[in-house]
This record gives sequence, C-alpha cells and structure tokens, in this order.
Amino acid sequence: MAVYKEIDSVLIHGGIYGDKYTGAVNVPIYQTSTYEQKGLGENTGWEYSRTGNPTRAALEALIAELEGGIAGFAFGSGMAAITAVLSLFRTGDTVLISSNVYGGTFRVLDKIFKNFGIGYSIEDTTNPAALESRITPDVKAILVESPANPLLSVTDLAAVAGIARKHGILTIVDNTFMTPYLQRPIELGADIVVHSATKYLGGHSDVVAGLAVVNDKAIAERLAFIQNATGGVLGPFDSFLLIRGIKTLGVRLDRHVENAEKAAAWLKAHPAVKKVYYPGLPEAQGYEIQKRQAKNGGAMISFELDEKHDIRKFFSSLKLIALAESLGGIESLVCHPASMTHASIPYEIRQKVGITDGLIRLSIGIENIDDLLADLEQAIKESGEQ
Ligand code: PLP
Repeated sequence: MAVYKEIDSVLIHGGIYGDKYTGAVNVPIYQTSTYEQKGLGENTGWEYSRTGNPTRAALEALIAELEGGIAGFAFGSGMAAITAVLSLFRTGDTVLISSNVYGGTFRVLDKIFKNFGIGYSIEDTTNPAALESRITPDVKAILVESPANPLLSVTDLAAVAGIARKHGILTIVDNTFMTPYLQRPIELGADIVVHSATKYLGGHSDVVAGLAVVNDKAIAERLAFIQNATGGVLGPFDSFLLIRGIKTLGVRLDRHVENAEKAAAWLKAHPAVKKVYYPGLPEAQGYEIQKRQAKNGGAMISFELDEKHDIRKFFSSLKLIALAESLGGIESLVCHPASMTHASIPYEIRQKVGITDGLIRLSIGIENIDDLLADLEQAIKESGEQ
C-alpha cells in the first residue's frame, strides 16, 4: 500500500491504485454492463454496472479521499450529480441557494424540483448573519458556490456550515471552481460536495461528468440508493478519463493560477477595463475569507470593459482564446454569462445579482501568458475602434 501525506500524492495514488490482477499502474477500463454470477445469489461483488462498476468505483474512492469525505459518487454530468443530491429532499422542503449559482442549478430547481413541491430561495450567502434569519422550518439545506459563478463572490463556508449545523440542516457546496486541490469544504464543515468534473477535474475539455462526496453514512446510503434508482451514472471510459485527468490536477492548477494572477493584474491596470472580479486581488469582495479557506484565488476571472467598447466585437476578435461554454480546461475560454451560462436566469434576477450584459468571463488556461495577454490586448483594441 502506498504511503503518502500530501494532496499532490493523493491525486496520483489515492482511491484504488492500479490493478491487482496484472500489476498495471492504471485502473483498467471495465467496459462491461454485467458480471457473470457463479450461482444464484453468488456474485463477485459486482452485479450490474448501473449499481457498480470497478472503474467508476476507483474514481468514486479517489474523489472521496481527495475531498476528505466517506463516500464518492460519479454521475454522467455535474447536473446529474446536483439532481441526485437534490433528490434527497421531499415535498415541502426548501433549499437556500447562493445568488450567483450556476444557471443550470437554478433551472433544475425552478423548472423541475418546484413541480415536485421542493422550493428554493435565492439568498446572499456572502452575508451569513442575514442568511441565518432566512432559515425557516421548511429550509432543509443551503447550497453554496464559492467563489460563485460568474462574479466570483466569496462565501465564508465555515460560517455558513456552522449556521446550518446549528439549525440541523445540510450544507452543500459546489466546489467546481476550486477543486479539492484549492479548497476542501468538508474540512470547513460542509456535509456534501458536488462537482461539475467536466471542468478542472477532467481538465482537458473532453469529458462531461459530475461527482458528489458525502461525509455521513446515512446520507451515503441514501445517495447510493438514488444513484442506482435514478441511474444517471458515469460510464467506465469517462471514469477512466477523469482518473487520468485528476492525476495532473495539481500541476495544471499551479500553472492556471500563475497565469490567472498575472492576467487579473494586467486587466486591473488596463485603461479600457472598468471592473475586474478575481478573488485573488486584495480589493476583491471576500479576499480575506478566500485566503483563509482556499489555497489561492483560482483561475476564473470576470471583467467589464468600459462603454466605449463593443463586446460583440471583442468576442469575435479573439484569435487564441475560444468563445465557448464551460471552463477549467487547459485551453483558455471566454464566455458571455448573460447570454450563455446564465441565460436561464430571468433578466430581472440577473440585473439584481449583478450579471450585467457587459460582463465577460474568462477561464484562464495554461498557455503562455504573453500569448494570452497579446490576444486580449488586440481584441480590446479592435472592440474600441468604432
Ligand atoms: N456547477 C458549476 C459551478 C458549473 O459551472 C457547471 C457547468 O458549467 C455545473 C455545475 C453543471 O455541470 P455539467 O455541465 O457538467 O452538467
């Protein structure tokens, strides 16, 4: 058994390492839907791949270890993971959500769970005292993203988890933007962590996947039941791709963040840039909290150009940075939250929470930083020439 202490080693050796039958250093892709049984009621521990698959199980053990939880669950997308977690609730329950949650999280609550009598309420989780006053008897959980998408607003996770515990309700943290390499919500008191593993964990924009980690045996049993009953599981090949991606998470993120810190400082100093949102900047909302609860500010930056610039022209002028949904891949991506990731949030709510039509979100990749800044510079220049 491998001996290690630090997360960089867990990324490579954690969960189930290699293959005990052959000594292969990688977990094989068990591309099978079913398993032959020796006789009635006599199986090898594996029965059917919706219920369990060894490649998926290796990934589930890995993410549980990385997040410091007791069990992990892999799903076909981040939304499938979030849907499974929300399926823990019943008619009459309410979930409080951060005002900047991912648009799809809002959408599944608003358009699907609401129909089953599970309510939601959008709250400013960056103000834990005000949040506490919103906990009524029907509230069963607080679902937080920190830093939240796309304004990178930071919530004090330990404070929120403390309040939730006091009221006997669950804290669910979407840790997609940080990953366990930068932030470990369970250590801060969270009960459930969810991920769009499509992003940094996969890291190469080649797989759509979701993960959930829990820290309680009873919740683990219920989520295992929901995973099997509703069936939104991750396939063996995609599980393998995620394990492969996770092995390099540390080195990738170190470079992502190094680039992002330089890009944020560059944008801040640029005369055409009106506002920069990056939790690694000392003047950012929640900077001190971020420093306490995470390793650094991550690699997502949002910004606004001043009114003299045409953002449509900015997007179409970029030559290296791709205009695309998603984030967290090794290549830099840019998006327009108001019409893309957050379009499912009604206009009035978007204005209220600060997702303006001029907001630009950057997922900083691991390319050469000078090439990235040169691309931003020429696109800003183009967008300013009327
Ligand atoms: N959570 C966050 C923070 C996200 O950014 C996303 C997707 O962009 C999701 C959840 C949903 O994940 P997926 O697209 O893998 O279903």
